[in-house]
Amino acid sequence: MKRVLLLATGDVIAYSSRPGRSGIATGARLLETVPPDALAAEVVVEDVLAEPSWDTSPSTMLLLARRARAAILDQGFDGVVITHGTDTMEETAFLVDLLAGRAARQGAIVLTGAMRPLDDLSADGPRNLASSLRAAADPALRGAGVVVCVNDELHAARWATVVDAANVSAFSSAPHPVLGRVIDGRVELSATPPGRPPTVAGDPESDVALIKTYPGMDSALLTAAVDAGARGVVLEGTGMANVPVSLFTTIIELTEWGIPVVVASRSRTGPVSLEDLPFGMGLAAKMGAIGARGLAPAKARVALMVALGTGGVEAVRDWFARL
Ligand code: ASP
Repeated sequence: MKRVLLLATGDVIAYSSRPGRSGIATGARLLETVPPDALAAEVVVEDVLAEPSWDTSPSTMLLLARRARAAILDQGFDGVVITHGTDTMEETAFLVDLLAGRAARQGAIVLTGAMRPLDDLSADGPRNLASSLRAAADPALRGAGVVVCVNDELHAARWATVVDAANVSAFSSAPHPVLGRVIDGRVELSATPPGRPPTVAGDPESDVALIKTYPGMDSALLTAAVDAGARGVVLEGTGMANVPVSLFTTIIELTEWGIPVVVASRSRTGPVSLEDLPFGMGLAAKMGAIGARGLAPAKARVALMVALGTGGVEAVRDWFARL
């Protein structure tokens, strides 16, 4: 019999708001909403005391990543399902993916949540949980990396993002493909998962700033972030990852001070290095900036948190080059 660990962190999938039944369902109560014959594994439940995901903390994200990895590598679970708020599910899923290491090859790790409360008309949580538990027990997901399973869709953690916070089909991987679906309780993959990330040894650094650039932006914002303690900065640029020239001198300075500056784009871009962009674009690379390899800004911040566990600017640059 397959064994799946269910880590329940609360949030909308567990909310009940009806008079007399209001509150947050435990993982065991959530599991009761799934018909036993819909399960394909023995499910062990652990409730994780956590903030609402819109207010999550790096320590909660790291706890979930470590617990999921240990469940598979040390306790022999075939898979792990983490119920999580949808607001920051994409960040937690990517952090779990970057830290999973061998666990992503030996088992499946699935994050899920809900757009409607548990006691809502046509609540989506029970089906999301049922599909996620089946996916976590399915050998087809081994090696695919961490996935988000919502509305029977399987999205790679590296690509998943919430595009519609009011829709049960909230997530998208565009411009990348949806990885697959859970159909009749089975995983059907329809795309090649992203490559596995480089391994890391040290602990992630949580003090990483994410700054959206804009026309006329003053570089003082960058130095202020570093003065406030940031050990790395991600800039959300435009187009193929361009940033205002007014930031160039500060990018040089921060890089020289050992503070890596990663440039992502608000637009979807390919996984190209800044250095490989045609003339006139990606100029920040000449100032020492590191390209985000096509990662969305919020994902680039998670990646930089992890990369800073490998060492200084050049170690971070090398790590991103191998993403
Ligand atoms: N809508 C979110 C949820 O699924 C709220 C949150 O992520 O905290 O719970």
